[in-house]
Amino acid sequence: MKSEKLTVNTGCDFFQLATLGVQGLQPYQPGKPIEELEREYGIKNVIKLASNENPLGISPRVFEAVQANLKDIARYPDGNGFALKKALAQKHSVEMDMITLGNGSNDVLELIARAFVTPEHSVVFSEHAFAVYPLVTQAISAKAIVTPAKNWGHDLTAMQAAICEDTRLIFIANPNNPTGTWVDRTSLKAFLNVVPKDVIVVIDEAYYEYAIENPDYPDSLEWLSDYPNLVTVRTFSKAYGLAGLRVGYSISHPDVANLLNRVRQPFNVNNIALIAATTALTDNEYLEKSIALNREGMQQLTQVFDEMKLQYIDSVCNFVSVEVGDGAAVYESLLCEGIIVRPIGGGYKMPQHLRVSIGTKAENEQFIKALRKVLNH
Ligand SMILES: *Cc1c(COP(=O)(O)O)cnc(C)c1O
Repeated sequence: MKSEKLTVNTGCDFFQLATLGVQGLQPYQPGKPIEELEREYGIKNVIKLASNENPLGISPRVFEAVQANLKDIARYPDGNGFALKKALAQKHSVEMDMITLGNGSNDVLELIARAFVTPEHSVVFSEHAFAVYPLVTQAISAKAIVTPAKNWGHDLTAMQAAICEDTRLIFIANPNNPTGTWVDRTSLKAFLNVVPKDVIVVIDEAYYEYAIENPDYPDSLEWLSDYPNLVTVRTFSKAYGLAGLRVGYSISHPDVANLLNRVRQPFNVNNIALIAATTALTDNEYLEKSIALNREGMQQLTQVFDEMKLQYIDSVCNFVSVEVGDGAAVYESLLCEGIIVRPIGGGYKMPQHLRVSIGTKAENEQFIKALRKVLNH
């Protein structure tokens, strides 16, 4: 242990004081920040394609709204997020009391787990699914039931079979990060039909805006009235380009939302984030531009992967996972070229793959150039 000396001084082993769940936690591994690589390698103009951020940067309209409201920073935000909830309710044709706002959708995912799950319960999710599911499950010392993936995606049959007496919560990332895979309307509906009514099913739709182009991709909001145990989670971090401000939300039965709002910190979404998200909802031009840019970038990258005979997993998101052999080694070599992508060995158990976020045309070109160099193609 690095801080052994401090432990001796306090006469107390804090690790032993922590809950069992926390003792077993592995901290979330975020994408490497640009500044860190520039500092460590003494290089400039680093390109980051590691965190599925919107390569367009902030929408000009949002930028203006944020600047105009900076003077309000001395005030607490509206703890109920009235304006944003009203805009979301209108957009999605739901009631405001069905919405729970979060400091990013990660916050909402954790609220759901904390509101419903204890160490006596189990949580079901898939192999290769989003890292936050095992993390929040472990943090509350609950039991994780991880079902094997099928063609890298969620196997809903296996997930159904895995549900036990003590299962309280199921996480489904649709589409999933880091695989980019998705479950279709018919399969998901059939799944919801067989899940017991007292098991919460979270459909995490962080990439909804990209995936919805696909006709068989289900918009789970349509099913909320049929399945009160369904919770749809969305975010402003991806297509809306607000990753740094942290705004996400869930839409659920009002009884569920009411419970989540009890667990929630009173001011979990700050006032600048509220303004930015509310404004972002009005900027369709930016959204459409982002989606179009992503479509072109996805084509640009996968075309080159085909040429290079690299296998990749078909993705409906703003990233693609490509098989490169020794993922960790190729990741390191790309760093030397000033390109940050995401290695997904570790918790995701995909050591042969790298996850690459779709960038601007120029960023993608730089990445391709570096990849060709690193792989001698
Ligand atoms: C990026 C992502 C999120 C969103 O995280 P935020 O906390 O909203 O930034 C949620 N779920 C998945 C699967 C993601 O990839």
